[in-house]
Amino acid sequence: MGDTSGSSNRSIALAKPSFSTEEEQALIEVIRSGWVTQGPKVAEFEERFAALVGIENAVAVSSATSALFLSLHALGIGAGDEVVVPSLTFIASVNPIVHVGATPVFADVDPRSFNLDPDSFEAALTPRTRAVMLVHQLGLPADLDEIEQRAAARGVTVIEDSACALGSAYKGRPIGSSDNLNCFSFHPRKVIVTGEGGMMTTPDAELAARLRRLRHQGMSISDVERHRADRVITETYPEIGFNFRLSDLHAAVGIAQLDKLDAFVARRRAIAGRYDEAFAALPEIVTPHVPGFASPNYQSYIARLSRGDASMRDALLDAMFRRGVATRRGLMAVHKEASYAHIPLTGSLEHTEAADAQTFVLPIYADLSDDEVGYVIDALFEAVAEVVAA
Ligand SMILES: *Cc1c(COP(=O)(O)O)cnc(C)c1O
Repeated sequence: MGDTSGSSNRSIALAKPSFSTEEEQALIEVIRSGWVTQGPKVAEFEERFAALVGIENAVAVSSATSALFLSLHALGIGAGDEVVVPSLTFIASVNPIVHVGATPVFADVDPRSFNLDPDSFEAALTPRTRAVMLVHQLGLPADLDEIEQRAAARGVTVIEDSACALGSAYKGRPIGSSDNLNCFSFHPRKVIVTGEGGMMTTPDAELAARLRRLRHQGMSISDVERHRADRVITETYPEIGFNFRLSDLHAAVGIAQLDKLDAFVARRRAIAGRYDEAFAALPEIVTPHVPGFASPNYQSYIARLSRGDASMRDALLDAMFRRGVATRRGLMAVHKEASYAHIPLTGSLEHTEAADAQTFVLPIYADLSDDEVGYVIDALFEAVAEVVAA
């Protein structure tokens, strides 16, 4: 291991979008076209996205959070309904449940994959449960078949929070190709980036048409249709909608990014492979567990301390910071936030709390160089020696 302690002038980001001249060109083209809001580029982005994941319909929206909200709203979930969701997730999985007027019910995760534990899910079901928010955690597919079977047996709808999971596959099937509503994100921490942006997928053409209306104030026809018509068409508003539109500026960047998805995922998998191999020699560190059914995109690389509490983990992250390496705690436990203190807990969340205390994420993104990966590995060996093994 090289000595990294003297090289604190190094600075390695946790996540970084990978942009090039294609994205710049795409933006210039849209600006020059004069059509910057939702228009032809959004339609093209949707078509390309749907073809890529192998689904009939993709509907672009302003973020994964608006996609999750719109999913719940379109399914008619609201006051008096319960939605089961893992507490161990980004808080955006849970906020939309509250915003439609429903009640989140927190379930525990599997201690190795950090994905929703099927038994904990089942234990959380009540006669009021309408849906389960199934999160593919950090791009690692959850056990979809298992959860779907148990949900179907109880008349519960599955919504997939696939915010992190573009490019991942479950039993060889791309995430986003199932019969459920799927919600993706293009935030800079995700695998493809438009700045802000989201996408919904569904095999149901009627549902997709309704989602397109709802994202655009409930309007009966799109701006593109009206623009292309050979006569003046007056729209109607059959249903109350929202403004969850994506702009053509974002969509044009998204199209350029989609072309690179395979390369991005391949690079992330290669980096994860190097981390796995190196950290196998560190008994203090547990590397990510990948179940046989899952092909992750490594939106994040999540590692865990084999022992110790949050203060030890935080000291480790601080030792990484002093070496110029950005890291973060792995996953948050939503039930521990003040904003969710009023939600009664119905079952044990022991694995959620342990993961909240012991996990952390390391830099991983397409533009991270081999040299930088080596530097991160050396830094973690040193930080472990300093903080954990001491
Ligand atoms: C990022 C993320 C979201 C929210 O995505 P936005 O596009 O920023 O709204 C939702 N759920 C999970 C699991 C996420 O990681």
